[in-house]
Amino acid sequence: MNTKYIFVTGGVTSSLGKGIISSSLAKLLQARGLSVTIQKLDPYINIDPDTLNPYEHGECYVTSDGAVTDLDLGHYERFLGVATSQANNITTGRIYQSVIDKERRGDYLGKTVQVIPHITDEIKRNVKLLGGIGKYDVVITEIGGTVGDIESLPYVEAVRQMRWELGRDCLCVHLTYVPYVAAAHELKTKPTQHSVKFLLQSGVQPDILVLRTEHKLNDDVRKKVALFCNVEKEAVIESIDASTIYEVPLLMQREQFDKVVLRKLGIDDDKEPDMSEWTDFLERVRHPRKSVKIALVGKYVELPDAYKSILESFVHAGAANECKVDLKLIQSDGLTRENIADKLHGMNGVLVVPGFGDRGIEGKIEAVRYARVNNIPFLGICLGMQCAVVEFARNVLGYKDAHSAEINPSAEHKVVDLMEGQKNVSGIGGTMRLGAYVCKIKEGSLAHEIYGETQISERHRHRFEFNNKYLEEFEKNGFVASGINPESGLVEIVEIPGHKFFIAGQFHPELQSTVLNPHKLFVAFVKAALS
Ligand code: GLN
Repeated sequence: MNTKYIFVTGGVTSSLGKGIISSSLAKLLQARGLSVTIQKLDPYINIDPDTLNPYEHGECYVTSDGAVTDLDLGHYERFLGVATSQANNITTGRIYQSVIDKERRGDYLGKTVQVIPHITDEIKRNVKLLGGIGKYDVVITEIGGTVGDIESLPYVEAVRQMRWELGRDCLCVHLTYVPYVAAAHELKTKPTQHSVKFLLQSGVQPDILVLRTEHKLNDDVRKKVALFCNVEKEAVIESIDASTIYEVPLLMQREQFDKVVLRKLGIDDDKEPDMSEWTDFLERVRHPRKSVKIALVGKYVELPDAYKSILESFVHAGAANECKVDLKLIQSDGLTRENIADKLHGMNGVLVVPGFGDRGIEGKIEAVRYARVNNIPFLGICLGMQCAVVEFARNVLGYKDAHSAEINPSAEHKVVDLMEGQKNVSGIGGTMRLGAYVCKIKEGSLAHEIYGETQISERHRHRFEFNNKYLEEFEKNGFVASGINPESGLVEIVEIPGHKFFIAGQFHPELQSTVLNPHKLFVAFVKAALS
């Protein structure tokens, strides 16, 4: 079978959930035995989101091969359980960089380099990289932004060309919004009509329309949209608000979204997708037997997207423990020894989240201390682990000025220091220690009990590390390095034996938790918080 290419575009407004629709369709196709991957094309000029702050972009998701990407790739991996890579997130910046590099090399010798065909060819090349012989059966490409945006035009043009070139092997799904006007008691289709017109002006006729709505679509609305937008009525798919994103694949199945897609792509398949494991998971999410309260201590409490993968990991780990995890985001700015007991009152577990810079750092360190001395289950991630190291150095080893070199480069006791490999790095985009690295786990440790293995691989995004000069002293005093990178000796996991549950990692476990394979660290943390 030729690789099939499905483009997902968005209209009317952003934030309609193209990523979840793409992931849900991919899941249904995967559950029918097809191999599927999802790619995101982002129309901004940054090479990747590495230098963007969370207010601009939410979380940066990191792939095993070290790409810093859009958070939608997290959804793709969580839904499909298949790793993504550098090839799964392309930005306009990367497209232009590659075209300009080629121009300088002389690849276009004698020619004027232009948006069409050179930029569009480069876009198409990046889409097709994931398909072809021995690769994926289906490549779903989500185009960021909204059609009609100036910056998305070259992408829409590339879609037009690919549909023309590939015929039945390519289709376009367009996601729009149908607002409900309460005064008229009516769902309004005009914005959808306009957004399809935008696409038509660029020469793209969508094959399937997915209508995001807060109310059920009646037959008349479906008929009207079909008539005005030149799509079959069966290809008008309702996407009604769901109580959890994990319900969306089942809602899409009920709408026969996958069947319409297969028919249009000319794939014969009269079976139903096997969604039994997914349904079991959803049942456990919907009907928890108990609940547990966990504090997330960080800077972006008003911006949950900054911690997207962590929040989702708790949904997975909660389901694995048949419990609901009530997460409370706690602002680390202003947390002090005086108010900490009050702010963390009633919490069954404390997680200090990843981050950069000094804002709120003392509050994070205080949260670690509170969890340590009160025997409250604690999980530290990346900066959260570094805070645990600083806290122990200050309050147990007695190094009052101990700090991370990131925050206080002139501290006498830099118990967290810049990695050797980072010392000569000048630019800051894409230069951290990124992607998956192996970690050896000490037998008999809590980490060993949790993972059940002595060698694991986890993903990273950091510049600073535990300063091994202090390792012996930490270990003598009951703060153990239970996970080490075998090549560099970098401390990957620390723990405090004797504490109810105190563990922290330099890596990001949240990037590998999926619906059908919840991350063991989160599962164990929730279990400890429950006990
Ligand atoms: N700022 C810290 C470092 O660069 C931690 C990074 C993180 O939490 N992702 O090492």
